[in-house]
Amino acid sequence: MADSPTFRRSFPEPDIVVLTIDMPNKGANVLSGAVLDGLSSELDELEGRQDLAGLILISGKPGQFIAGADLREFLTSLAGPKEKTVEMCRRGHRLFARMSTAPFVTVAAIDGICVGGGAELVSFCDRRVFSDHPSTQLGFPEVKLGIYPGWGGTVRAPRIVGLSNAVEMITSGESISATEAMAMGWGSDCVPRERLLASAIAIVRDEQKSKAYLADRRRRQGPVDITETELGFLGAAASGYIQQQTKGQYPAPLAALETMLQGVQLDSAAALELEAQGMAELFGSPVNQALLNVFFLTDANKKDRGIASDAVKPKEIRSVTVIGAGIMGAGIAATSLKRDLQVVLSDSRADALERGEQLVLDEVSFNRETKRKDADRAIQYSARLTATTVAEILASSDLVIEAVIEKEEVKREVLTRLEPLMRPDAILATNTSTIPVTRLAKGLKSPDRFCGIHFFNPVRKMKLVEVIRGPATSDETVVTAVQYAKNLGKMPVVVLDGPGFLVNRLLLPYMDEALKLLEEGVPIEAVDKAAKRFGMPMGPIELYDMVGLDTALYAGNVLCAAFPDRFSGSRILPALVEAGRMGQKSGRGFFSHQNKKGRAAPDPEVAKLLDPLRAGAKSSLSNEQITDRLFLPMLVEAARVLEEGLVRHARDVDIGMIFGTGFPPFRGGLLFWADTVGAAKIVEMLKPYAALGKRFIPSELLTELARDQQKFYDLNRRTTKP
Ligand code: NAD
Repeated sequence: MADSPTFRRSFPEPDIVVLTIDMPNKGANVLSGAVLDGLSSELDELEGRQDLAGLILISGKPGQFIAGADLREFLTSLAGPKEKTVEMCRRGHRLFARMSTAPFVTVAAIDGICVGGGAELVSFCDRRVFSDHPSTQLGFPEVKLGIYPGWGGTVRAPRIVGLSNAVEMITSGESISATEAMAMGWGSDCVPRERLLASAIAIVRDEQKSKAYLADRRRRQGPVDITETELGFLGAAASGYIQQQTKGQYPAPLAALETMLQGVQLDSAAALELEAQGMAELFGSPVNQALLNVFFLTDANKKDRGIASDAVKPKEIRSVTVIGAGIMGAGIAATSLKRDLQVVLSDSRADALERGEQLVLDEVSFNRETKRKDADRAIQYSARLTATTVAEILASSDLVIEAVIEKEEVKREVLTRLEPLMRPDAILATNTSTIPVTRLAKGLKSPDRFCGIHFFNPVRKMKLVEVIRGPATSDETVVTAVQYAKNLGKMPVVVLDGPGFLVNRLLLPYMDEALKLLEEGVPIEAVDKAAKRFGMPMGPIELYDMVGLDTALYAGNVLCAAFPDRFSGSRILPALVEAGRMGQKSGRGFFSHQNKKGRAAPDPEVAKLLDPLRAGAKSSLSNEQITDRLFLPMLVEAARVLEEGLVRHARDVDIGMIFGTGFPPFRGGLLFWADTVGAAKIVEMLKPYAALGKRFIPSELLTELARDQQKFYDLNRRTTKP
């Protein structure tokens, strides 16, 4: 029989077969239905041979062993009956189990990423050998998609590395390096890439002699050797930790834990069946579907160049000048430096520059492993960093980003003064959060080479970057800004110019409503609690304190002025700012931040300030009503953003909200969530609040979707220039 296209057979020695997995025309190997069929036919033939001592499974792609199951195939069966999911798991079990019943030793020789279904397949092999290349990783990331390993991972892992290690890996979803895998007991050897095959062959020979693998096969058929006390202790500790981490919003880690706690007490066959039955509860669940959406959003973002056409290529950015060495300027400079760009950091004030430079060096020299600053790193990076008050030095940079204070006249002066000093092909950008890019472009000689590159605070941590396209911005400028952001490891979303761009515009209705609720007498805790129950990482009132009340007031005023028919602002913010309560930075905002641990504590002074601004009677709104009040106006505004064509697809809104505001991934994104609820139902949910104003009135697009029973994700609006 001819080799299947994905698998190649070779014989480094007459009685040892090497099965190389190498999907044609793909960067990574994934376990699609066709690949599983291919493996099955290979095994059909190899199992029948009497002359084999060993089978070595290896990948033909350096740095890529097996990236997991084919998630696109999953999508087609999400809505299927539970019995189909159980059968899908059983099929994997039957196939992979052949690796541990074959009439020869089976060894996985792992170089590169080996995760999900790939990690399950190798855990059915008798032995594993790892390449010590940094790309080698072993992991079970399934819980991040709202499921758990369903092809035997929950059964094999505890039988190979013990229950405690298996629980840690499977419930966290985090991958481990080859060294960590060896320390846990996954591997027989860890060698340089070039010696991987030789090591696997040596293992086959050893096993052939010792027959140790046969004893292990028998042992792994039975329950795991663990006492009830150990089981009880581990179960309680892990379950407490998981519940604290997932807050009941992500069911998969707990389900994985329970399956493993029960499964280790059963023989392997019964444990596999238990795994399959449990998987059927998770597969296709709302959380699974939402997390898959986040996965595909991220994937689509990697491929999105920011414009429709493939014809325009990005310019290479090797050097960047950042003007303004404050929090944002220093963050942008440090992130650029870490990606090996040449960086100039400039500020008009020498003291600010010195502080900014120190911030940059502190960040780039931080060693995550030792959790300390590393002097060698500081020296290495400082060779590529120039800090100067003489902005003229920017003449050699490919990209100049202005991050000076948020004052239009200051920014315009800086931009028009610096533009003539730049190379004629360099790109100029602003990090403004509120000033329209169109206004800042006035007075520039080449507005086509100007755009917004809006980073979020803290730059090191926040994945989102909004690339703001003004009416004159060229395609080349957009693709270059998008590519620069990606090179920094960020997720860029292209947004047409407009007040608040995307994320701040959608945060306004939510933040503003939180204050309206306070005015109506809803307690601060009730507002924050509703938002957190919905899944936000913190409540809107806590967020005010983090952002800074003065900053929020300023941004809110700009946006309220832009959309006066929907948002009016509240008297609460000016009152608190007037009283010197700026939030965390001043030690007092809506909460007090003055206790030793810096934790936010309720402050009776705030009640005194709020009382005269409140309606009087205590509000009796339910948690559900508060949630509606906070999130429905945000959704109505998002529909308007799509309607106005500010972004190209509903996906962009969801990337913005998840990666810019922490909108709960288990809801799949703001518009994905709306699609799950259904536009018609959303319109119904809005009705009781209609009297509160236009922010609760469905936009034209939302009304249309409700009428036609369509989804936001079905719209394919192309809005930026063709
Ligand atoms: P910041 O006040 O920390 O820093 C601004 C720096 O600009 C100061 O060091 C100041 O000395 C310098 N500066 C002022 N005028 C200058 C001039 N003419 N030439 C050179 N330098 C000058 O401010 P920040 O928080 O870093 O914000 C910078 C920009 O980033 C603003 O446009 C802001 O809206 C935007 N932004 C801020 C955040 C945030 O959360 N802080 C988030 C996104 C965007």
